[in-house]
Amino acid sequence: MPTPVSEDSSATLAARSLRSVWHPCTQMKRHEAAPPRSIVAGDGAWLVDSEGRRILDAVSSWWVNLFGHGRPEIKAAIAAQMDRIEHVMLAGLTHEPVVRLSERLAERTGLGHAQYASDGACANEIALKLSAHYWRNLGQPRKNRYIALRGSYHGETIGALGVTDVELFRSSYFPLLRPAATVPAPDARAARDAAALQQAIDSACQALDDYLRRQAADTAALIVEPLVQCAAGFVFHPPQYLRRVRELCDTHQVHLVADEIAVGMGRTGTFTACEQAGVRPDLLCLGKGLTGGFLPLSAVLCTEPLFQAFYDDEVARGFLHSHSYTGNPLACAAALATLDLLDEPRLAANRALAERLDTLFEPLYRHPRLRHGRRAGMIWAWDVEQPPADFARRFGLCALDRGVLLRPIGSTLYFMPPYVIDEAAAEHLLQATLGALEHSLRLPEHAGPPEQPLA
Ligand SMILES: *Cc1c(COP(=O)(O)O)cnc(C)c1O
Repeated sequence: MPTPVSEDSSATLAARSLRSVWHPCTQMKRHEAAPPRSIVAGDGAWLVDSEGRRILDAVSSWWVNLFGHGRPEIKAAIAAQMDRIEHVMLAGLTHEPVVRLSERLAERTGLGHAQYASDGACANEIALKLSAHYWRNLGQPRKNRYIALRGSYHGETIGALGVTDVELFRSSYFPLLRPAATVPAPDARAARDAAALQQAIDSACQALDDYLRRQAADTAALIVEPLVQCAAGFVFHPPQYLRRVRELCDTHQVHLVADEIAVGMGRTGTFTACEQAGVRPDLLCLGKGLTGGFLPLSAVLCTEPLFQAFYDDEVARGFLHSHSYTGNPLACAAALATLDLLDEPRLAANRALAERLDTLFEPLYRHPRLRHGRRAGMIWAWDVEQPPADFARRFGLCALDRGVLLRPIGSTLYFMPPYVIDEAAAEHLLQATLGALEHSLRLPEHAGPPEQPLA
């Protein structure tokens, strides 16, 4: 018997959701005023809610969707795999989708020995453990601390929170964490001209060098979000900074972990963001868009020397880490279909599309209340000047009323649309944004709760 489709109205479903579901990254009490929308379908860059309204998914459903909802090629790949084997453990066994995916990721990144988890945070956990274990295997067990960039975001599990520098996400759990050292990252916004940007890069690198001179003997790895620190409010740094970071890590014998969970899979215009700097990290983490937004899957790739340090007769020198759904065949099939779509011509087409949309978004670059307009590939961001209290939430609700899903981070408004957004949808996005800005900035100031930088 097929499960009957719920006939509940959206209001009833929202009420049931609030009773039974603990929604992520949410103060549940705030839903008293604005219950969650129920989504019944997806169609390319659009979502359809239970009232039949179409909502443009301008944040790619938390940065995961690349080629639109319901993308036929990805659906077909998952369905075909389902007819063979849905899941099998990956310890002691293997299967074609995981082998092919690992080979393809190696070709695209120049790294290898892919390991898999389901979420980005767990990929970072793998990378952090691998790095410290590598140094232990080399007889340097003291090298087990980490460095992160100021404002870093690497996920919400306890290890990943330890290298995350977002107060709101971290402060309640601080006693549980082993916090990383943080070093400043150059913020392209602060630089008025090329000389000022160079100065910001120099001083950030100097701070890292100073730290490593004192602490390299205790440090396993530096973890960075290459080119764009998204959750920090879209803090951009130039590729040149990554090159210098790579050199400093080499000089001081510390791993460079590239967390490309948000910026990888073509988001910044190239397959990985590191490519733009010509930098190869020791460990690379991918997630989010890896399956085109269909299934949870993350991957960690590493260098050959790193792998070799674990290759031994002794079991304990191996990496004894696992997750139940490691290398899930359905997720790997979805990732393979996604990689087929994300070939070099497609990346070039994305770059051209992003430039056209940039012209279309001109009114936002000129908007009197927005500044620091910036773009990397298919990521756009602007900072709202003098945002009213609770701007992010108000704006989000206004945008939803206008048929666009947007969730500013604090006072930073951003677009991260699926790569299939067309000019008509982008025009809708622009108009909805202008309207939502006007409405949410016009509202009278009130002594609301402090601004919360919820992603
Ligand atoms: C989203 C994100 C993560 C965490 O990924 P999850 O799948 O949410 O666990 C880690 N790092 C970066 C840079 C991210 O943007």
